[in-house]
Amino acid sequence: MTDAERYDYDLFVIGAGSGGVRAARTAAAEGAKVGIAEDRYLGGTCVNVGCVPKKLYSYAAHFHDSFDDAAGFGWQLPGPATFDWATLRENKTGEIKRLNGIYQRLLESAGVTLYNARASVVDAHTVVLHNDAGEQQIHAKKILVATGGWPWIPDFPGSEYAIDSNRVFDLETFPERFLVLGGGYIAVEFASIFNGLGSETELIYRGELFLRGFDQEVREFTRDEMARKGVNLHFNTNIAQIEPSNGAYWVTLTDGKTLEVDAVLAATGRHANIEGLGLDTLGIRLDEQGKIPVNERFETAVPSVLALGDLIAGPELTPIALAEAMQLVDIHFKHTTPAPLDYATIPTAVFCHPNIGTVGLSEEQARERGDIRVYRTDFRAMKHTLSGSQERTLMKLVVDDATDVVLGAHMVGDEAGEIMQGIAIAVRAGLTKTDFDRTVGIHPTGAEEFVTLRSVSRR
Ligand code: NDP
Repeated sequence: MTDAERYDYDLFVIGAGSGGVRAARTAAAEGAKVGIAEDRYLGGTCVNVGCVPKKLYSYAAHFHDSFDDAAGFGWQLPGPATFDWATLRENKTGEIKRLNGIYQRLLESAGVTLYNARASVVDAHTVVLHNDAGEQQIHAKKILVATGGWPWIPDFPGSEYAIDSNRVFDLETFPERFLVLGGGYIAVEFASIFNGLGSETELIYRGELFLRGFDQEVREFTRDEMARKGVNLHFNTNIAQIEPSNGAYWVTLTDGKTLEVDAVLAATGRHANIEGLGLDTLGIRLDEQGKIPVNERFETAVPSVLALGDLIAGPELTPIALAEAMQLVDIHFKHTTPAPLDYATIPTAVFCHPNIGTVGLSEEQARERGDIRVYRTDFRAMKHTLSGSQERTLMKLVVDDATDVVLGAHMVGDEAGEIMQGIAIAVRAGLTKTDFDRTVGIHPTGAEEFVTLRSVSRR
């Protein structure tokens, strides 16, 4: 029996998020016969309840500062600016519907067959699809599990009243008082968003300081700037319980404080979204980090079943899932050996206000490896000379003392993500501080500080 007789598809993908769609399209472009199953929305977390709507809401929140900043430049607003949550929410939903359509057309034009169904894996080459129409068995030479992550909320009295990051985008009414639990990306981003949109905002984090794993100075600087913008930060505490009260919630913290709020967002991490997939019965189990172990070919314990993105070890970021999808297709359908992904120089941005942009090693990580030089500056951006805003910007370079190589670059300030994308190319290429110094600045910008940092701040 040939493969064509034995299998319906060369590749069957479960989950049409960033990684799944990219793998399906590129494998199809290589001539593979590809099917994909999705039972929720096309584009996955990023498009529907992650990066895209979050960035749109972040833009919305930034207008608050822009209205405040405008007066110093001569602009008079007719009255105090008012915000309408329903307009933002509905416009966001419209944009996501447009993107869902684009994803559908991308799959169709690539020749990928899309199944609107829930899938489970029953053996190394068989997937069962379930939907209202019934059940269908599909045989595939390779099965790619690309179901991503799902928000997780810890169990505590009243935890059922907390919402997760899937639900926060579509709140029926705008929360005048908003509380976020957590100290990761999602917590600081949503604290900034709701604070900017006008909510009285509380952030509760169980540790000393949020954004664990980021450069310490970046964390401290972000803390101070977020506090300056009005977010009420509560560290070294946690939620003990939530009780409903007249349409609002009383939140009791473990340090005894109580807060009355209109919505509680638990941004306490995400877990692999594998419930009901049947991986267990094939002997594919999660490791102690809650991830599916794969080899460098993205093969699980069952070699014909592949996994990528948030399901496997590594940063839970859309561009990583996309890069992994391209690698997977290179390996399995182009039969080439791509250079392994360089996980050490993955740039990332946190869209809190002000934004954080970072690439490479933190000062603390670099110090553990050897002698370093740190070049840093913090300043009030030119725009704020007239705006009157006290917002400050931090920029720093962490340099290996012996080789002069720039090991890490960090920024907290306006458009840090945009700026860091360019700097990341230099850090990824292993350029030296001398290369930065020889680069002519673009004047007047904030970004030029990255090439004009002349004196060592500390060693
Ligand atoms: P993170 O894992 O980044 O953060 C989870 C936070 O919740 C941590 O601060 C953690 O504390 C805290 N936490 C965990 N368990 C508990 C508990 N039982 N009680 C109280 N607090 C708890 O997850 P997020 O949900 O913020 O985001 C998930 C991932 O999505 C991120 O890691 C990131 O990779 C990705 N993402 C990327 C974005 C971007 O690129 N801009 C934006 C949003 C998400 P502790 O630090 O003490 O463990």
